[in-house]
Amino acid sequence: MTEPSKPFPSDSTVVSFPSGALDAEATVRHVLAVAGRYGLICDATPFHPEDHTWPDQPGDQGVVAAGGHEFQVLDSVIAAAHRGTGELWVAGDIPVRRGDPDWSWHVVHVVADDPRDLLGERVRLSVDPERRAGLSAGHTGCELVGPALNAALRDRWRKDAGLDSLGAPDFDKIAIVSSRIGLHGSVDRYRMGKSLRRKGFTADGLADVLGDLQAQVNGLLAEWVAADVPVVVRTDGPSLADVRRFTCEVRQGPVVALCGGTHVATTGELGRVVARLELVDDGRELVLGTSTGGAAT
Ligand SMILES: [Zn+2]
Repeated sequence: MTEPSKPFPSDSTVVSFPSGALDAEATVRHVLAVAGRYGLICDATPFHPEDHTWPDQPGDQGVVAAGGHEFQVLDSVIAAAHRGTGELWVAGDIPVRRGDPDWSWHVVHVVADDPRDLLGERVRLSVDPERRAGLSAGHTGCELVGPALNAALRDRWRKDAGLDSLGAPDFDKIAIVSSRIGLHGSVDRYRMGKSLRRKGFTADGLADVLGDLQAQVNGLLAEWVAADVPVVVRTDGPSLADVRRFTCEVRQGPVVALCGGTHVATTGELGRVVARLELVDDGRELVLGTSTGGAAT
């Protein structure tokens, strides 16, 4: 935990990454120590921070510039400050879920050089555009492959299960254990154990039809990319604490998911999305690798 040097700002950071922003001017409100480095908190930012509860998309990198000096932003993470006690926690140490109203929520720009001279100053915040573009493509591919997988697996449910926004049992939400987004790709892992069986999913013979399932998933992805439909992040408000939703209208209906990340503007920008399914750990885990156009070869 880091002790605030003065009463901590009670307003959550205003964020512009949901609309795809890469640059902004802002005022530095706080400097804190973060694991041997410094953390810089501003009143507003275009930087996307890694979420502490569901760390799927890595934090943005880039530059904070002021008075002819440039500070390299090595990572972006979340800090939460309790409104009553002022206690402040960073990233994985935060004891509550993002958006808890008893806490204010902040984007921390992690820098190596001492930025304390910047306190109260106006600065220019610039996200590394190439890296952001790769992560946005990877994240959009990841949001689309979930419903595509749900559709391919929909006949394997023997009991009612929660449905996704296209009306298929939401295997992606029910079975997922982790999701990692990289540049132009993602890896989702699903647990195929007893609890999934109890919920009514049958994994019998899955290994034998994995190629067919993969082809179905890739067929849907190809259709959605060819349709070149808009991808929009809808927000309930301007701050980091507000709920954000990935929204994309495909032929089958609206793909909608709670999502704190960044995305491309249309599905066509992805160029091509290819999914690969693999059963590992004696069939106890299903691994879904997804890559989009522009991926390093
Ligand atoms: Zn997401």
